[in-house]
Amino acid sequence: MDSEYLLNPIASTGGFFQETTKTAAKAAANTAARSAVRWFFASLGPFAVPLLFLLFFAIVIPFACLMRDFYYPGEYGYFDGGIGLGLAPVSGRWTLTGKFGEDRGDHIHMGIDLACPEGTPVVAVAAGRVRLSSSPAGGNEIWLYGEDGRTYYYAHLSGYHVADGETVSPGQVIGYVGSTGRSTGPHLHFGVMVDGRWVDPLPLLQGGVLPGDLAYRYVDGEKLAAWLRGKRSMLADHVDEIIRAAREVGVNPLLLVAITGQEQSFVPEGSPAAMLGNPFNVYGSWQSYSPGLYESARIAARTVVKLSRGRPEGVHPIYWLSARENPNGVYAEDPNWWRGVTYFFEALQRQI
Ligand SMILES: [Zn+2]
Repeated sequence: MDSEYLLNPIASTGGFFQETTKTAAKAAANTAARSAVRWFFASLGPFAVPLLFLLFFAIVIPFACLMRDFYYPGEYGYFDGGIGLGLAPVSGRWTLTGKFGEDRGDHIHMGIDLACPEGTPVVAVAAGRVRLSSSPAGGNEIWLYGEDGRTYYYAHLSGYHVADGETVSPGQVIGYVGSTGRSTGPHLHFGVMVDGRWVDPLPLLQGGVLPGDLAYRYVDGEKLAAWLRGKRSMLADHVDEIIRAAREVGVNPLLLVAITGQEQSFVPEGSPAAMLGNPFNVYGSWQSYSPGLYESARIAARTVVKLSRGRPEGVHPIYWLSARENPNGVYAEDPNWWRGVTYFFEALQRQI
């Protein structure tokens, strides 16, 4: 503005006059600011610069975190993979508004809620057969009996795009997001049932980031137990807990066992109970944290999924779990960790 008036003073004499008084006021403000800065440095001396840094972090970081929550209300803003197929249950943008296991007063929430515009297509996440139903709570529902042995549940739909009993393929549109049943706004309630129990769908959906070998596969528990017994491993009597955790999160159980091989030599007989409660060394060490075998297996499996994100093409998937350049973090600091895990994993894959 200043330069415009100076170059063209006849544009408006009133404007020109106002501008000059503004300039005088600005100069006075500048002088005041300068003396304040001088006072700040003079009175604080060598502490001035560190204090400025501290103020910067004290204000900027909490603000940034706040804004992050504001812009990304869900725990995960996207699924970069589906259940081994690169699929999400909705085709389009969504926001996670309800998590698995939430206490809703009169019931526990047994699925996830994905809020999206009314009419957003919902898609089959696996091959299987659909059954259409309706209930006061779920409104228009689809039960998808997947060929993978899991049952998928879609609720609150506004409409269907399949007929009852139809066979569907992954990615096929089967219905549309709505707000039927007990619902306060358009969203998809998505549930996953494994062995007759509801499990958290989020890790399964995220499991799609895992390459084929690392993703969950059926493992013969007795065969695995026998293999571990051959190594005099205390894990031999607890393979069911490892397999259950691996299945719930969607990770190959043999990868989890391989990690215990690298971390704790498969927990040999005579090891402390605390080691058996955390043979994966989740959160650093079994000595400081031992949540129990099932729980630590779950944490290890979730960590594997989290660390697998963003793996560049051609990079070894186990190497990536502890690669320094992995932006998600590392499973272990030891640069040879992945070699040990890979060695055990390949042996287990061949023999089990
Ligand atoms: Zn829900």
